[in-house]
Amino acid sequence: MEYIQEFLESIWQGMRRAPKPKRGQDIRLRLELSLEEAYLGTEKLIEYERWIDCPQCGAKGYVGDLVKEPCPACEGTGRRVSGIFSFPRPCSVCKGRGYIVKNPCPVCAGRGRVAKHSTVKVNIPPGIDEGEVLKVIGMGHQGEKGGEPGDLYLRVSLKPHSIFKKVGKDLHTEKLISFPLAVLGGTTKIKTLKGEELEIFVQPGTECGSTKTIPGMGFSPEGNLVITFRIEVPKNPSGKLKKLLTELAKELKEEGVEKPPTLLDNLKKLLS
Ligand SMILES: [Zn+2]
Ligand SMILES: [Zn+2]
Repeated sequence: MEYIQEFLESIWQGMRRAPKPKRGQDIRLRLELSLEEAYLGTEKLIEYERWIDCPQCGAKGYVGDLVKEPCPACEGTGRRVSGIFSFPRPCSVCKGRGYIVKNPCPVCAGRGRVAKHSTVKVNIPPGIDEGEVLKVIGMGHQGEKGGEPGDLYLRVSLKPHSIFKKVGKDLHTEKLISFPLAVLGGTTKIKTLKGEELEIFVQPGTECGSTKTIPGMGFSPEGNLVITFRIEVPKNPSGKLKKLLTELAKELKEEGVEKPPTLLDNLKKLLS
């Protein structure tokens, strides 16, 4: 028992005497990208805070000469017996130093470190996907006591898009087509994620909700573009269009066009 205690004390003394350089911690941030930015690649300016040595006190934690007084919690020994093992452990009040600083640096409040607003320009490669992580070497928190800095990790998060939905490597989109185009077939245009117009063929007899798959036009070259057709219903048809639609209804033997429900129908509905 005594031997272990001595051993621990010797380690502790060693730690107190020579503060070792400590590598700065890594910083992990979420990087929000639009679908276009991720697809085409871009350059992003990242703004964040990182801990650096306090420029006011040079990481000492005090300005000028150190004014200190023995720590009342550990009586200046820097360690206290606590916990179930009854071994001396670093004093939490003075952080094992054994003294309290009476003239802490006003800029860093004695911590020796300050948060610095930092910016870094990051190149986003085209085709980057949700959850991928970009590493910026040396842009994490600054190291302590001359230690090397940590790294900055940026985890990609894709923002929802107004037209396209990314499903794995595929892109899904909806296209409104007119009733005549759905029936007779033909061509229509859609916008791609690149912003280009793409002419597509609509099969005669295209049903509302049916899909068309264009290989290689997805979020990546391995992905597909999946177009779901919806049939457009004119909300305020002009007089001419109304006439044509009435003609069409006659042709299709649609007898209920524009007729209100009869009294008998309503009664039936009420009783059922
Ligand atoms: Zn103490
Ligand atoms: Zn300071």
